[in-house]
Amino acid sequence: MPQKRPRLQQRKTNPFDAWTPASAAELYGLDRWGQGIFTVNDAGHVALAGPDGNPGIDVKNLVKEIQMRGFELPALIRFTDVLAHRFRVLHESFAKAMREHDYRGAFRPVYPIKVNQHRHVIEDIVALGGPLHHGLEAGSKPELLIAVSHLGDPDAVIICNGFKDAEYVDTALLSRRLGHNIFLVIEKPFEVDLILDRARALGIAPLLGVRIKLSARGRGAWESSSGDRSKFGLDCQEIIQAVQTLKRRKALPWLQLLHCHIGSQVTDIQRFKTALREAGSFFREIRKLGVPLTRLDLGGGLAVDYDGSKTNFASSANYTPQEYAADVVDAVSHVCNEAGLPHPDITIESGRALVAHHALLVIEALSCTGPDETPPPPPRNGVHEVVRRICDILEGIGPKNFQEAFHDALQARQDALVLFSHGHLGLAERAAVETRFRHACRLINRHARVLDYVPDDLAGLERMTAATYFCNFSVFQSIPDHWAIRQLFPVMPLHRLREKPAVPAILADITCDSDGVVDQFVDLRDVRHTLPLHPLRRGEPYYLGVFLVGAYQEILGDLHNLFGDTTVAHVSSSSAGYAIDKIARGDAIMDVLGYVQFTRDGMFNRLRERVEGALKRGDLSFEESAALTRRFELLLDADTYLNSGRAPVKFEL
Ligand SMILES: *Cc1c(COP(=O)(O)O)cnc(C)c1O
Repeated sequence: MPQKRPRLQQRKTNPFDAWTPASAAELYGLDRWGQGIFTVNDAGHVALAGPDGNPGIDVKNLVKEIQMRGFELPALIRFTDVLAHRFRVLHESFAKAMREHDYRGAFRPVYPIKVNQHRHVIEDIVALGGPLHHGLEAGSKPELLIAVSHLGDPDAVIICNGFKDAEYVDTALLSRRLGHNIFLVIEKPFEVDLILDRARALGIAPLLGVRIKLSARGRGAWESSSGDRSKFGLDCQEIIQAVQTLKRRKALPWLQLLHCHIGSQVTDIQRFKTALREAGSFFREIRKLGVPLTRLDLGGGLAVDYDGSKTNFASSANYTPQEYAADVVDAVSHVCNEAGLPHPDITIESGRALVAHHALLVIEALSCTGPDETPPPPPRNGVHEVVRRICDILEGIGPKNFQEAFHDALQARQDALVLFSHGHLGLAERAAVETRFRHACRLINRHARVLDYVPDDLAGLERMTAATYFCNFSVFQSIPDHWAIRQLFPVMPLHRLREKPAVPAILADITCDSDGVVDQFVDLRDVRHTLPLHPLRRGEPYYLGVFLVGAYQEILGDLHNLFGDTTVAHVSSSSAGYAIDKIARGDAIMDVLGYVQFTRDGMFNRLRERVEGALKRGDLSFEESAALTRRFELLLDADTYLNSGRAPVKFEL
């Protein structure tokens, strides 16, 4: 497991200083993972930094305005300016590296469509990438159709990866007639003959690439997409055979691109360096076979520093895009200069690093359970021994004995459970033990927290005593990677940041699945198990932002419990502050029912049969039958998430 370095940096804020919005930015790590894109403004709200000291976009106010338009939370907000910023970072990094190395090939990156296929995102990417000759990468037939229909720049490239059949190949070949530089990447030995047969049949010369299996690998959750046993790519012997086949079929001049991909979220720059050396050698050796390679495609993998720790930890990256660009250009120019080869055009397929930052998920805390609970007054005499015991433990907790007190409290609770199961303890007495046990844990945790080193047996207390904030969203729909691979996303309140947050909390979603929780949070040093939040105030909404969710989450999200797509808003800054360019409601209930093959008529007919039966039996009045039918009908068109009650009321009984 990669380790984070111990905390080297001193905290900028002195704990005795007054709490300011800057303290909040520091506490939640906004300064680190926010990349200068997000800040906390004087109102204590999260804001998108405006250009040149402009006020930028106040996210809390934006959320309010989205709701005032009648759209419900949860909402995914896409910031076009952030996407533009990420394009600049990537292209400027490579431009700088190429200048410094006197690099003579071009930079022709592609955006891998699988990372976020939503039409508006693709449209933004094509618009922003146009002047930069940024192309597209497709890994399936649907993605191919997006690429050939949307890309308009004849200098950009389209890279076709993934499993291919004749339909896939034909479409790519015919699209060359539109002026596309479309490369079919050979990922499997059999694809050589397939592509050549189709090219001959259609009379269209293909542009070919070949994907190699590097033994160098990425690392972490995505490791298996590279290495000797990866699903894709040709090994050395297969490459030699493919080249022979191409030669025999007089197709060698078409093979111009060498492709590799070592995995996503490559957190350690050293792995790129190793892979780059190996890829460079493949390039040199394949050129020696007489293959006229002029392009090198290094795949994706450029990592996002989700936790801001700048380490090789799974949710971080120990390098910047600039360092990556410098290493790529250095390695490629080095191998070519040594071998006397012309510099190839460089393609990379960065997806995550391009789109992760632009999307923010806004959720609302609906209620919370937890640490404010104070135990009821101590029971009067005559109560069970185990109740008296836990009362004594609770009273005696101090800085010297809290670890011992913890063990005693655990024992008392265990005894109470056994006594209850054997019928020797009543419900009220068990409740008395449990509430005091929880209270004891909180006191003990308060003592433990100030230790430099927290003993193992007390380490779980932080989590155990945390408040649970129930939030109106589904982990499975909106941040599936948090559930699937424990990926960390930065989470923080979007407002009230002038108040010091004092409630250690975890988040729970509204699915009926106990895995629907967020209980791991970004931290500079390790993973933190609770997030400090503000106490909820009655009648006042509390908004939380889940940041950097623009890559992979939307399409991997699923319909667990039939919670569907959220509201989506596209926002860009304008001279007047900001503009909501596009806004769309999430899935209606009928939409998600349709995904699982229910139909509106079918649902209605079933309901009608039951209503008629109940009317006949006299169990339902006509008024009630009308109300139920109407409610049913309205609900089919309603959002799948909980209605906050603030949106225009749709129906009153
Ligand atoms: C998934 C994938 C990418 C994108 O990787 P990121 O880590 O998101 O940059 C690029 N190329 C190929 C072949 C892929 O499978």
